[in-house]
Amino acid sequence: MAELLKGADVVNALNDKMIAEIEILKSKGVSPTLAILRVGERPDDISYEKGATKRCGTVGVDVKNVVLPADVAQDVLIQNVETLNNDDTVHGVLIFRPLPKHLDEDAVCAALKPEKDVDGITEGSLAGVFTGSGKGFAPCTAQACMEILDYYNIDCKGKRAVVIGRSLVVGKPAAIMLMGKHATVTVCHTRTVDMPAVARNAEILIVAAGKMEGITKEYLSPGQTVIDVGINWNDAKGKLCGDVKFDDAEPVVAAITPVPGGVGTVTTSVLVSHVVEAAKNIL
Ligand code: NAD
Repeated sequence: MAELLKGADVVNALNDKMIAEIEILKSKGVSPTLAILRVGERPDDISYEKGATKRCGTVGVDVKNVVLPADVAQDVLIQNVETLNNDDTVHGVLIFRPLPKHLDEDAVCAALKPEKDVDGITEGSLAGVFTGSGKGFAPCTAQACMEILDYYNIDCKGKRAVVIGRSLVVGKPAAIMLMGKHATVTVCHTRTVDMPAVARNAEILIVAAGKMEGITKEYLSPGQTVIDVGINWNDAKGKLCGDVKFDDAEPVVAAITPVPGGVGTVTTSVLVSHVVEAAKNIL
């Protein structure tokens, strides 16, 4: 039976830390504020917006919602980003992506000031992750994986870590952050040869492939810590599932994050913690 690495416990610890920090900030006249910029009415975005707003409220971070129509012009969207850049009462900005197809997403991301980029979408933030300079903010999901490892005292030093998936939002930054924790890191992707053997050899396995339950028992071995980043809706089961087949993993590995209730839960809290950091940085 694997230990369940529950996100809620990590969130509680992050919340306690944030509440103390926000109290100090407010005593100095700074009220940490997240601006959420949404284009259109995608149900996924609206649902994440509700979750993030609630999570901000729990710890005392204010939220400013900016909603633009799905057919907004590129220059109007950029103007809105610039307005938020120049608004001293806003400390962090979350821009929902993907943006509608007629918009140039790279240009919109580039318009955001790195110091307000609490979701880690600008090249400045990614450079900060890769150089370890501490500039900008790491992509929240990749950092959520690290927060889980830290909270459960999983020492990465000298360990064989394997990351499955090389996206810019999860796989690549997670690999770099594991290296920062002194793990020996291998990144697997669609062209990896004999991935089950590579994955089985891992002591720490982070899975962010976006393939529902694609990681089955031939990828797993006893003693592993498995962080399952995947969030997939399983029509047949009528519930959310990860990228790891939980029923295969749970009897074999030492520890695993559940889906739901694992990485996703922590990701939103990491976003809120970045807003608090951004507010501290201006003092
Ligand atoms: P993505 O599709 O951008 O990237 C997936 C990566 O996995 C790619 O690099 C691809 O080459 C690789 N890949 C795909 N199939 C593979 C396979 N069979 N073997 C090895 N590698 C393979 O996805 P993403 O944005 O990185 O998200 C990954 C998963 O994490 C998705 O299930 C997504 O829903 C989930 N996600 C969760 C959170 C969270 O907060 N928990 C946040 C973002 C994404």
